[in-house]
Amino acid sequence: MQPDIMTIVNEYNMEINPRTAYKVQVEAKCPFCHGDANNRRKYKFSINAEMHVFRCWLCNESGYVYDLEAHLSNKPYEEVRKKYTKRKLHKAEKLSPKQLEKIEKRHLKVDYEAFKQQFTQIEKEWDDYCLGQKRLLLSKILLSHVLNLDMMSAIHAQVESSEIPNIYSETMHEYLHIETSKEPWAIEVRASIKSLLQDYQSENEHTLMAVLLIRHYKQVGRLKH
Ligand SMILES: [Zn+2]
Repeated sequence: MQPDIMTIVNEYNMEINPRTAYKVQVEAKCPFCHGDANNRRKYKFSINAEMHVFRCWLCNESGYVYDLEAHLSNKPYEEVRKKYTKRKLHKAEKLSPKQLEKIEKRHLKVDYEAFKQQFTQIEKEWDDYCLGQKRLLLSKILLSHVLNLDMMSAIHAQVESSEIPNIYSETMHEYLHIETSKEPWAIEVRASIKSLLQDYQSENEHTLMAVLLIRHYKQVGRLKH
């Protein structure tokens, strides 16, 4: 059974515009950015009580009722999703709308039957995406170490936007054991960074990073086709 978005809104005492309380389109204060918190009359968080979706006009945060509950309860999306279903979920169903967005499959969620038919495909594309992201992250970490670059902000930006749980710890684990790693993808990254450094030894770090990114996107492109 799917949760009612207004039940969640009330359960967590979200502040709503009383004039819209019984409408389909309910206005509330944004629990993500709090950008409208200091203006008594402003309610920038829009909730559709029938579709169980929301969007903030300030920070652009949007999603389905599960995303809202996950945020308000501070629980992982998957755990919230599990609460409402008794059967075992397919891996594709456990992906949050934001994760689906990363593999351009979010639009499928509106039609469950269509979504269901692509479970296997979605799972594969998600796994490929995760692998690509881990490869890129490990490459950045290795390169920043070898060239003595401060790439912390680039590394964190990727971790933040990847929507992959544990990507940082898993990748760091491979980095710390890079010489003995048995993970094929980590071995591959190590070899490719070595060849990158050999091929472009006289180039500066910006060129090296550019080549790294070009190689990454080429590889991602190959996986897709
Ligand atoms: Zn907001």
